[in-house]
Amino acid sequence: MQDLDVLIIGGGAAGLMCAFTAARRGLRVVVVEHANRVGKKILMSGGGRCNFTNTGATAANYISGNPHFCKSALARYTPWHFIDMVERHGIAYHEKELGQLFCDESSKLIVKMLLDECEAANARVLTSCSVERVDAEGDRVFRVHTTLGAFRTRALVVATGGLSIPSMGATGFGYELARTFGHSLRPTRAGLVPLTLSGTHQQRFADLSGVALPVTVQCNGASFSNQMLITHRGLSGPSILQISSYWQPGDDLTLDLLPGRDALEVLEAQRAAHPGALMHNVLADVLPKRFAQRLCEVWLPDLPVKQYTSTQLRDAAALLSRFPIVASGTEGYRTAEVTLGGVDTTELSSSTLESRRVPGLHFIGEVVDVTGWLGGYNFQWAWAAADACGKAVCAV
Ligand SMILES: Cc1cc2nc3c(=O)[nH]c(=O)nc-3n(C[C@H](O)[C@H](O)[C@H](O)COP(=O)(O)OP(=O)(O)OC[C@H]3O[C@@H](n4cnc5c(N)ncnc54)[C@H](O)[C@@H]3O)c2cc1C
Repeated sequence: MQDLDVLIIGGGAAGLMCAFTAARRGLRVVVVEHANRVGKKILMSGGGRCNFTNTGATAANYISGNPHFCKSALARYTPWHFIDMVERHGIAYHEKELGQLFCDESSKLIVKMLLDECEAANARVLTSCSVERVDAEGDRVFRVHTTLGAFRTRALVVATGGLSIPSMGATGFGYELARTFGHSLRPTRAGLVPLTLSGTHQQRFADLSGVALPVTVQCNGASFSNQMLITHRGLSGPSILQISSYWQPGDDLTLDLLPGRDALEVLEAQRAAHPGALMHNVLADVLPKRFAQRLCEVWLPDLPVKQYTSTQLRDAAALLSRFPIVASGTEGYRTAEVTLGGVDTTELSSSTLESRRVPGLHFIGEVVDVTGWLGGYNFQWAWAAADACGKAVCAV
């Protein structure tokens, strides 16, 4: 039985960050990772270049049962703290769009940086190590049995992430552990995930697979403007991934196909300029050609625009600005970037991420019911929660 101050389950973004933050304070820290290597999601993130933070991250970019919960950690560990560390390690990066920072070269550099920090702080990282049992032994003492031996620890940090991409090591272990210790969970579901269509909805779009266009998509009061990509099973692209976190089965989605423009003004201007042009040609000026054609095969009369009555033109404009989409589902955890829901924040301290039920037990990162938008927000939450926990753990 080895004695520790902090045992962290999960060697992902939050677990590694918490490990060196706590170990820098002189605490004896071990990270237990069941996969054969740490940080697999970091490696695959951002198309291999890891969108490691977003300079505009605020609580407004997160979905949670308690939208205020993430404020404390985010305020104390900002994107600029992480950028400082990235720069100290000489990792080149660039801003892609909307404050999203990516590595110039490879996500591997972020994992290396986290491991180098762990090594410098003397935090031990065990891979291919599975937790077999966790027992609470009175006040702030946990006995953790793993395939690489047993540990007695003053603090236990659960950083096992969410359910998305099971092939990368995702498990429901953290949720089960939370439940065992009497914590409530908010229902989990896939987020930042492509939406699927079925029946006629799917048939109308399937052969347009590969067509991309900018849209503003709305659902349940949320709205995102960005590219939409038609896939052979449904819809994807940044705007759809974003709205998927707000969508639930049965909810209506609407698309503005001419974002930022008044559709009626666009159509009237086109009619004045090209009165004899067929509607699909008029629309092909402002939309991808194949998409414009499909609109006129299914939804709009393909007449010369001068033959459109005022009512027909208004109806066409209304269709373009409030195009209804009926999604049948999502692609699920197989492709989702995140898991919504998780450990209920009402039973955690927002400043230390410690359980209010079991002193010494902490939950950090994606396992907690805090889910960010697409664009580096999820890593920023992982870093910030890990920093808050790593600085507070074992303080009593
Ligand atoms: C394809 C993809 C791309 C992404 N791109 C981005 C991006 O560019 N920017 C961004 O901000 N977010 C991105 N995300 C989301 C981001 O990866 C996660 O939100 C973030 O990794 C969460 O950090 P975490 O430490 O909580 O969990 P994770 O990083 O998932 O780490 C959890 C770790 O715990 C381990 N584990 C699980 N169960 C056990 C167990 N029983 N015992 C031991 N270990 C266990 C796992 O193997 C894993 O290593 C992406 C996600 C995916 C899937």
